[in-house]
Amino acid sequence: MNRKYEKNLDKIISTIEKARISVSEHHIVKIVGVSKYVSSKEIRAVFECGQRAFGENKVQDLEIKSKELNDIPIEWHFIGRLQKNKINKLIDLKPHLMQSCESLELAREIDKRLKIKNQKMNLLLQINSAKEEQKNGVLPEKAVEEYLEIKEECSNINLLGVMSIGAMSEDKKIIQKSFETTYNIYQKLEREGAKYCSMGMSFDYELAIKCGSNMVRIGSLLFQ
Ligand SMILES: *Cc1c(COP(=O)(O)O)cnc(C)c1O
Repeated sequence: MNRKYEKNLDKIISTIEKARISVSEHHIVKIVGVSKYVSSKEIRAVFECGQRAFGENKVQDLEIKSKELNDIPIEWHFIGRLQKNKINKLIDLKPHLMQSCESLELAREIDKRLKIKNQKMNLLLQINSAKEEQKNGVLPEKAVEEYLEIKEECSNINLLGVMSIGAMSEDKKIIQKSFETTYNIYQKLEREGAKYCSMGMSFDYELAIKCGSNMVRIGSLLFQ
């Protein structure tokens, strides 16, 4: 086993453990290893340390790496911007969870293609909780409404919750506020079957968990 990755993973797990216990004994957090910076070789090494879920942000990279690693049972997540002309390719790759659906319009398009292929897809609605121009996702004030519309209209999509990227700021309070906004929306959707509140990355996952996240996406800290 790779000692460096084993250590990184151990450190992340113990930080998560402390943060989740401060929320509740029953609060379970899932780790998605974001592998967009590394090749299949590094992913395999981290898999051998016990990590099963990995996330990619480009359909092309997901295709290459999932093929190279098809001998091991990796749970693949898609976390990037999905262009319309890549929807069919993503569906064919059968990811475990598409986390970055940025609009009702994109959900409709995905659902249309899923129906043609007679397939289903697990999906999260991405929320632009800090209303940043450079970020994708639905605005917080529209999130609940759009979520419910996707749920009602798109019968080949299994809508499982929300995803968000913390505010880009040096100020911890501003980051915290963006996580609280997302968690608030998630709570309203729990009775509609939402299971995942995916938020937190290498430099803010502890804070995200304290704000209620139950899925963290960690790249640089894991693969450093
Ligand atoms: C790159 C990326 C991450 C991981 O970022 P790190 O800071 O390297 O942990 C998480 N989520 C999304 C959507 C990303 O694009």
